[in-house]
Amino acid sequence: MNSELKEKLTQLAFNRSISFCYNCYHECPSGRCESCGSDDLMRFVDGIGCEYGTDWVIKHILETELTPVDLEESFENMIRECYPETTKVGWMEFDTVTIMKENDPISWRCALNEFESNAESDGIIVSFDGGSTYYRKNEVEDLCSQA
Ligand SMILES: [Zn+2]
Repeated sequence: MNSELKEKLTQLAFNRSISFCYNCYHECPSGRCESCGSDDLMRFVDGIGCEYGTDWVIKHILETELTPVDLEESFENMIRECYPETTKVGWMEFDTVTIMKENDPISWRCALNEFESNAESDGIIVSFDGGSTYYRKNEVEDLCSQA
């Protein structure tokens, strides 16, 4: 689903890293090692290190340039906009969100999960690590357009 975006990120990762021969331990900007002729090269990011593949470069770029989405916070803000700030129970007045969370954490969690999967299927947020970290899709796209 996000393969197009992943492709752009991979391109960005290539642009922001340099081919590196681990055996000869130097950069190989041409994509082939001038010393040993190998094309089995790592990617090198200045100040970070070298490793095979681009997934770690993508992760590094996302982590340093974007802020992950705090889904719980976004969800809570949305609920706060939908419902009155406080709710009266008998003669007592409670913070609506707090009383909801405390009294039915399971229902709260279910709604949060639904919110999360809706945001993902609507293409608002995107994850490249199987759902541990989400980023705003438009921010990722902006980042890719700098490639
Ligand atoms: Zn080499």
